Amino acid sequence: MRAILITNNEDQYQASLENVGQEQLPDGDVTVNVQWSGYNFKDGLALTGKAPVVRRFPMVPGIDLAGVVEVSEDSRYQPGDHVFLNGWGVGEKHWGGYAEKCRVKADWLLTLPAGMTLKQTMAIGTAGYTAMLCVLALEKNNVTPDKGEILVTGATGGVGSIAIALLSKLGYDVVAVTGQAENHDYLKTLGASEILHRDEFASQGKPLAKERWAGAVDVVGSHTLANICASTRYGGTVTACGLAGGMELPATVAPFILRGVTLVGIDSVMCPMSQRQAAWHRLATDLDLEKLEMMTHQIQLDHVIDFAKNGLSNQQPGKTVVQVQG
Ligand code: NDP
Repeated sequence: MRAILITNNEDQYQASLENVGQEQLPDGDVTVNVQWSGYNFKDGLALTGKAPVVRRFPMVPGIDLAGVVEVSEDSRYQPGDHVFLNGWGVGEKHWGGYAEKCRVKADWLLTLPAGMTLKQTMAIGTAGYTAMLCVLALEKNNVTPDKGEILVTGATGGVGSIAIALLSKLGYDVVAVTGQAENHDYLKTLGASEILHRDEFASQGKPLAKERWAGAVDVVGSHTLANICASTRYGGTVTACGLAGGMELPATVAPFILRGVTLVGIDSVMCPMSQRQAAWHRLATDLDLEKLEMMTHQIQLDHVIDFAKNGLSNQQPGKTVVQVQG
């Protein structure tokens, strides 16, 4: 099978497309003929070695995958079933989606949501499912559309783009934060009503600022997250899922103890299956598939390594889907 393999011999970190014997597939109870994968922020880190995402070598990266069951030792799945998965350490500790076959635990797999194709699940991928987890957290905390504006950072990225599309369809007033002036029309088409420059949030601010946001989806972290918390309205909720701007959180407790702001952490990787199913169920009903199509770019497995090394995902807004076979 063709597979991207990451090796790290004598501190020589390398990703290359190889022909790999299927007998090398890891343990698992379902073998999947992989048709599609995605390209996520974390896949970029794994392919370039810019952060220690890969925990075992050699590793097939690709944290998302979708395909057709070939062999199953689990009664829930039969050959021919269409399945997909996000996370669970796949592409980090367990061989992932950048290969024509994978072998995984049946417990990690999901069946296609109503009306969705394998390709669409990968266009949404971890980024989109994480955006939905953020929306569900806002709803759980009673942030309804009438409560006020929702801020979405990293707006032209995968999580940000899908969060804007979801929130606008649900009737929220969405304010997008981006560093890319050339993509304002794109963000308006997705449903943003206003666009702010990311520099407004990027440096140290006051412990409390003017109250504006009813809720937020933040993928940036660091000063941006601190400033969002400081400008969130009384009783509002901020969901934190990313670190595109830094891992640190230079904040004070003021928004939490004086305005009752809630900061909700979002993890997609080990998220329990019931929450995943709920998120994908909602994606099937609440994501405008025409907007998904508009934000999706397609590349072939052969191009993934160059795509990562040349930082090409930063040069176009939205999501990238990887055609593994076909
Ligand atoms: P993308 O690379 O698609 O998008 C990230 C966006 O963040 C960029 O498009 C850019 O948006 C913005 N950005 C990049 N660098 C900076 C910076 N230095 N300061 C401010 N903004 C910046 O990534 P994803 O959307 O897929 O992921 C975003 C983040 O969420 C990542 O940190 C990722 O690790 C995390 N994530 C976490 C998950 C979880 O389970 N918690 C799951 C999925 C992702 P713009 O140019 O519009 O400003």
